[in-house]
Amino acid sequence: MDEFIKHINIWQFQEDLLTWYDKNKRELPWREDSDPYKVWVSEIMLQQTKVDTVIPYFERFIRKFPSPYELAAASQEEVLKMWEGLGYYSRAKNLHEAVKEVVEKYDGNVPDDAEKLGTLKGVGPYTKGAILSIAFNKPEPAIDGNVLRVFSRLFKVEDDISKGPVKKRIESYVKELISEEDPSSFNQAIMDLGATICTPKSPQCLLCPVNKHCLGFEEGVQEQLPVKKKAKKQKTVSYVALIMKEKDRVIIEKRPSEGLLADLWQFPMVPIEEVGMNHIEHWFYGEYGVEIHLQEKLGNIRHVFSHLIWDIDVYEAKIIQNENNDTRIRMVKTDSIDDFPFPVSHQKMKAWI
Ligand code: SF4
Repeated sequence: MDEFIKHINIWQFQEDLLTWYDKNKRELPWREDSDPYKVWVSEIMLQQTKVDTVIPYFERFIRKFPSPYELAAASQEEVLKMWEGLGYYSRAKNLHEAVKEVVEKYDGNVPDDAEKLGTLKGVGPYTKGAILSIAFNKPEPAIDGNVLRVFSRLFKVEDDISKGPVKKRIESYVKELISEEDPSSFNQAIMDLGATICTPKSPQCLLCPVNKHCLGFEEGVQEQLPVKKKAKKQKTVSYVALIMKEKDRVIIEKRPSEGLLADLWQFPMVPIEEVGMNHIEHWFYGEYGVEIHLQEKLGNIRHVFSHLIWDIDVYEAKIIQNENNDTRIRMVKTDSIDDFPFPVSHQKMKAWI
């Protein structure tokens, strides 16, 4: 046994954590039952996204697709529409593909088997552990950034938690500590502890149910943990987005099916650093076969992704001639624009149509 694990009375740790969880657990819609499909949907939505943001999306999604059957039968566009605004849209596409497989291969029953679950699209070790423990009560660790933070403090791990061997070490601690009787509550308790008490900044150690087991707190170094290499600064890319209206219709464009915001719709964007302000009209005609005149600037939108910033000047443009035979763009009625899934930055531009 690792020397660090020896300092903890495992039984007492579980007792303290689970007693606290029993009294303080957050009421979340996916906790109303242990339906593995709902646990799965919630865990995919919660990746990179806060609980408060996810709740209304989850409720809407489950109303529309209450079981794997309804989700599997939906079109990709319908699924993306329900995900609109949540970001990281490949999560939705992978979930959709994986649920189709569950319907085809397993009669709509989410497998309770680690190997089968692990082969489904978008189900990585974290999601697999979360489904197996929360829905099927199996003692599987579910380690995300929150769990890494809590455990790096509990065991005073001063190495970089983004490194593989350090993650493995933390996983071994979770495996030692996880309750065999109630792994579902154990993993959810750690998630709640990380979200409400052992928060990234200013952890509330005096209120923490496991503070007497915590090496980081004992040595007063909890706020310096976890150690993590700094993320690279995001690069800013500038665009001009064009709002091109003709009577009650407007031009929109479908993004490519690979890469950032794949398959979502947007107002056409000009990569302005390459094209230059004076050549927008010429470039647009060459690219899409639509002759336009640039009009006034309507505003600016900045959108921050994890690795990139979009700085978009939004302009109105008049359509002079439309010989469009480009399959990417489409002229749609302005009152039907809400049928198409748009990323957040372009949803904001709808105010100008
Ligand atoms: Fe986190 Fe403090 Fe609790 Fe340790 S005592 S687990 S640092 S909140």
